[in-house]
Amino acid sequence: MSVDSKTKKNNQAHKSNSEARQKNKDNQLRRTKIVATLGPSSSRLDQIEGLIKAGANVFRLNFSHGDAADHKARAQLIREAAKKQGRIVAILGDLQGPKIRIARFKAGKIMLTDGDEFILNAGLDSNAGDVSQVGIDYPQLVSDCSVGDTLLLDDGRVVLQVNAISGKKVHCGVVIGGELSNNKGINRQGGGLTAPALTEKDFADISLAADIGVDYLAVSFPRAASDINLARERLEAAGGNAGMVAKIERAEVVKDDALLSEIIEASDAIMVARGDLGVEIGDAALVAVQKQMIKQARTMNKMVITATQMMESMIENALPTRAEVFDVANAVIDGTDAVMLSAESAAGKYPTEAVAAMHRIILGAEQYPAIIKSQHRVNEKFTRIDEAIGLSVMYAANHLDGVKAIVCMTESGYTPQIMSRINSDIPILAFARREQTRSRLALCRGVYAIDADKAVESTTETHQWVSEQLLKFGYATDGDLVIFANGKHHQLGGTNNMTIIRIGD
Ligand code: PGA
Ligand code: MN
Repeated sequence: MSVDSKTKKNNQAHKSNSEARQKNKDNQLRRTKIVATLGPSSSRLDQIEGLIKAGANVFRLNFSHGDAADHKARAQLIREAAKKQGRIVAILGDLQGPKIRIARFKAGKIMLTDGDEFILNAGLDSNAGDVSQVGIDYPQLVSDCSVGDTLLLDDGRVVLQVNAISGKKVHCGVVIGGELSNNKGINRQGGGLTAPALTEKDFADISLAADIGVDYLAVSFPRAASDINLARERLEAAGGNAGMVAKIERAEVVKDDALLSEIIEASDAIMVARGDLGVEIGDAALVAVQKQMIKQARTMNKMVITATQMMESMIENALPTRAEVFDVANAVIDGTDAVMLSAESAAGKYPTEAVAAMHRIILGAEQYPAIIKSQHRVNEKFTRIDEAIGLSVMYAANHLDGVKAIVCMTESGYTPQIMSRINSDIPILAFARREQTRSRLALCRGVYAIDADKAVESTTETHQWVSEQLLKFGYATDGDLVIFANGKHHQLGGTNNMTIIRIGD
């Protein structure tokens, strides 16, 4: 049997245990991951299975919508679908945070015309809005804003200017009118609303996240590292354990380098939350901010998700626009770990097509040679042994001819995470015993988790067994070089050894 057909056969026989299925017909592995938000368009088992088949790696449960029962049911279906297909997917719970919203209108919606007067009235009944005024769910808005401020409603589609403040009323003039419907968000241009990041609803949702056993928990509108730490403490107190994702979506955070660094340091990943952030800092400022944040997260050994409106037109259409193709591709070239779908997969008409389009575009973008090279931290000192080994492995892999895979045995997933901060086109195969470690790595660019179900006690045995696994899953064939990193068995942060082996020797 030829090596090729042997590999193919082995792939088919064993795809249930690996990410090998992500390989397309050219045998190219997709490195950048896809986060898909679930919602009404994607809550049935067959729909979730379709999204996994199309390439979704992480599912976002958006706690801003739906109730606890919805989210629990979805989590169960995600696990069922993943198991059925032998795929590893992660679940990300996303806290609503202090998203400031208007209340509701008697008629569900109104039409505002430029030049109209309109009152945001913290004293008005929640369901009593009309064309002259509407309630707000955040009474402090009255003291947080001043005359002359610009308020952006519904992601900036409607623009109000504050003319006067009296009692519980913010009197505004309509600068840009349009339709305004129930519960639309309010942002202040320039940021600076003082609402704390975690609300009572968020604390309840943290318990829900612990019950569900999410792999990641996203904190919306964090103002400081303490917000991330508090969310983590509460999650752990509720029996949960997840990677923390800081959504960067306040103007004052991106304006302050020290503050941004402190928030990134406290988290496992950040999200470039382009929706709210774009409203606060303006769309023109967003481009540089995305590129800088991705770079900074990677330099600090953290992961990063690029989010919002990536495939917006696919809410209605089966194909993305050229601009959307380039947006996804540019985020890949910027170095993001994952790209995210929001309404496209949660409430759009073409959820699977949107995931499939992202998959295809990412594979195309990853052919761009510039992203295979890396200058990551070449001029810096390392403080940890596992970090030095991890990065040495990556440089060796990138510079030695014939290396087909990087293998690491990992407990926490930290070694493959730091390795993947270096650009490469060689897959990082993370052998992990812990299911949670394998799921978390679903977010990490260029890393593919494999169940290290065999207890391996000696280095030679480990190499032998891993070589068998690589052949089995088609990651390498006889004669290929594989770089191997491991450490003391079952010890967190213990990676201290690097070996280069030739398969079959
Ligand atoms: P959201 O966050 O979808 O929860 O609002 C992302 C963003 O603001 O871009
Ligand atoms: Mn947001």
